[in-house]
Amino acid sequence: MRLQKGDQDLIHRQNRAIIINLLRLNGPLSRTEIAERAGLAPSCLTRLVRELLLEGIVAEIGKSGSNGGRPAVLVALDPNYAHTIGVKVERRRILAASVDMSGTISGRAETRFEQTPTPSEAIAAIADLTRRLSVGRTLGLGVAISGFVDPVTGVDLYSPILGWENTPLRDPLAAQLSLPVWVENDVNALALAERWYGAGRSFQHFVCITVGEGIGAGVVIQGEIYRGAFGGAGELGHITIDPDGPVCRCQERGCLEVYASDRFLLEEARRLRFDGIPELAAAARNGGNGARDAFARMGKFLGFGAKNLVNLLNPEAVVLGGERMEEADLFLPSLEEEVCRHSFPAEAEKLCIVPAELGADGFLIGPATLVAADFFRLPARGGLG
Ligand SMILES: [Zn+2]
Repeated sequence: MRLQKGDQDLIHRQNRAIIINLLRLNGPLSRTEIAERAGLAPSCLTRLVRELLLEGIVAEIGKSGSNGGRPAVLVALDPNYAHTIGVKVERRRILAASVDMSGTISGRAETRFEQTPTPSEAIAAIADLTRRLSVGRTLGLGVAISGFVDPVTGVDLYSPILGWENTPLRDPLAAQLSLPVWVENDVNALALAERWYGAGRSFQHFVCITVGEGIGAGVVIQGEIYRGAFGGAGELGHITIDPDGPVCRCQERGCLEVYASDRFLLEEARRLRFDGIPELAAAARNGGNGARDAFARMGKFLGFGAKNLVNLLNPEAVVLGGERMEEADLFLPSLEEEVCRHSFPAEAEKLCIVPAELGADGFLIGPATLVAADFFRLPARGGLG
């Protein structure tokens, strides 16, 4: 059977993608190793690697240790081939970073605001930051934002923290910058960053829970972000702990956020006459019983939330991130106790509870990874053919 031109092109693009993904996941490899793992004939592999070398996507980086035979030249992705831009929109500032092909931040910029920016002010600032960071080849821009996002249309459907509703972001930014643009919920973006470069690297199924001003969860199933039907999956902060509890900022009563976010710690700090969370934490570390108890209760409630996710989704790991991880030593023990006590024994034994590895940078690397994910995606046959 003779292959059609279109089929040949598709196979060619797929083979290129297989090679660059092998190098992305396994680091430097010799041509022989790539050929074996990709299942490609050596002559075909040599031609494809030559092509990728000429384009600058891969580079030769020295030789492997001699294994009896001749040392082989190693090929690796060139992290400087191109970069992606990741942006995080916050209430009073917009942070941006350029990220190289290995997921490392290579440049940063930010814009601050006196008040929460309007969508058009934010769009102008994002475009400006992107231009400032776009040196050399820029593959695209990813924007991380709180609230409900439709990743297909790039519209921020509802962001309570920013007070925005139905705000198109992708199309106006793509038009201004002539770049491909992705928009994603910030916690989902963080989970993606941890999946590619952080604590989630070795897990196919995990939940990334963020603790801070709010409580969110990014759900990764079979290696991919699970967004739900309308972009609202993972609103862990608003599961009900007590239907008669205090009113949450979502207007419901007794949400997890009331008992385990910064709001809870600030109320405890006030009650115990401390200035804020750092002072409360310092007192807890110095053995202050009231302060220690506050963090322990917070951990217990976070444990309830995590346990519910574990029982629903049966993940391999819970990855914990967000600003409040600075105080993890104070609430993690009670969180772990709660999760393990209430989960099924076989699950609890295998479950890993681990801190996120990328810190706050994950919120910038994550949206940039949306762009990289597109670059590394295996091409599929287009249309109905
Ligand atoms: Zn709520």
